[in-house]
Amino acid sequence: MSARLETEVLVVGGGLVGCATALALARRRTPCILVERDRCGAHASGVNYGGVRRQGRALAELPLANRARRLWGRLERLVGHDSEFRATGHLRLARDAAELAELERWAREARRFDVRCELLGPAELAARWPWLGPGFAGGSFCPDDGQANPRLTTPLFARAAREQGARILEGRGVIAVERSSRGFRVAIEGGPEIEARVLVNGAGAWGPAVAALSGEAFPAEVIAPNMLVSEPLPYRIVPNLGMVGSGVYLRQIPSGSVIFGGGRGVADPLTRRSRPLTITSLATLAEARRIVPDLARATILRTWSGIEGRMPDDLPVIGPSPRVPGLFHAFGFSGHGFMLAPAVGAVLAELILDGHSATSLAGLEPGRFATGALVAA
Ligand SMILES: Cc1cc2nc3c(=O)[nH]c(=O)nc-3n(C[C@H](O)[C@H](O)[C@H](O)COP(=O)(O)OP(=O)(O)OC[C@H]3O[C@@H](n4cnc5c(N)ncnc54)[C@H](O)[C@@H]3O)c2cc1C
Repeated sequence: MSARLETEVLVVGGGLVGCATALALARRRTPCILVERDRCGAHASGVNYGGVRRQGRALAELPLANRARRLWGRLERLVGHDSEFRATGHLRLARDAAELAELERWAREARRFDVRCELLGPAELAARWPWLGPGFAGGSFCPDDGQANPRLTTPLFARAAREQGARILEGRGVIAVERSSRGFRVAIEGGPEIEARVLVNGAGAWGPAVAALSGEAFPAEVIAPNMLVSEPLPYRIVPNLGMVGSGVYLRQIPSGSVIFGGGRGVADPLTRRSRPLTITSLATLAEARRIVPDLARATILRTWSGIEGRMPDDLPVIGPSPRVPGLFHAFGFSGHGFMLAPAVGAVLAELILDGHSATSLAGLEPGRFATGALVAA
């Protein structure tokens, strides 16, 4: 490989955000190199729960989530293979009047963004989903939400991006960024040096570290959502399930396994390792068995976690850096970026190539947090 490469856009990070960005750029014939330190989809994008829901999101995310939902609906055509996305619906349950009021409030506000939910009382819940446990005050069902297979999705985007002309370098981390006459001169482990007009920071939990290479500081923390999977059971739980208030969520895949999420494990961004905590897994399981009593018989086969960046307001930073021309950030997805990522890539490509996007990023701009400035080369 030559000691220097030139490109229009250099994307840092081969999670779903980076790979979706590379694909969107390549589809518009824009020279693009993506650099991934490990393997595409090795981190949060490949190990997450697989929830593809708009229900319960902050309203600021809904324009992006709506665009993402349209992309999920035609993902197979976009990436050339089934990512196992299914619009199974998302059912969010309330245990008391206060939680029910929260469901009603969200459903009312989301209507402004054209997101429709059905509000259901206890009798309707029991009639439609007889495997639910007793004692729910009500629920809200969003029929267009669903779930997908995270293990497949990012590699599919990476493959499609490659096929459309993007160059993907795996096993190489970006270690230094300088300004150059062209835009950026970027050093990567083991070379080559890359010159690019535009730099995209899609480095996930390491987004603040990549931003720091350009002198910008962001107040992010690292979180490790705690996950479990059961042995295969008869397929009954079709919708993706969540609760107001409690952090427990679960879904069943047609081959039978039930995937559970809830609480936090531990993660170390320096070693890039995360691990679940037994106490968290047991608490998740106890709560899940209250939601679906049949799960009391399920054997858990495996628990795991992953590394994710979280911003102080639980919203990602997406868009141009307020201080460094040509630098775009998209990180800090705070535990819910898998669903958004296909649209994040599409919107970043528009911002880079057209200077604007019809999809609003209001409330998600990097400028609400970034401090510092690029240190001159
Ligand atoms: C356990 C778990 C469950 C989750 N469940 C859901 C869910 O159900 N629904 C949902 O919407 N979201 C969920 N999320 C969140 C979602 O997975 C993330 O928000 C999303 O995958 C973020 O994608 P990303 O591409 O930004 O980050 P990542 O997938 O982390 O990718 C970033 C990549 O950047 C690379 N990188 C970092 N630094 C460098 C460098 N210097 N040079 C080169 N490469 C670098 C990393 O190696 C990594 O591969 C979950 C997250 C976790 C961890």
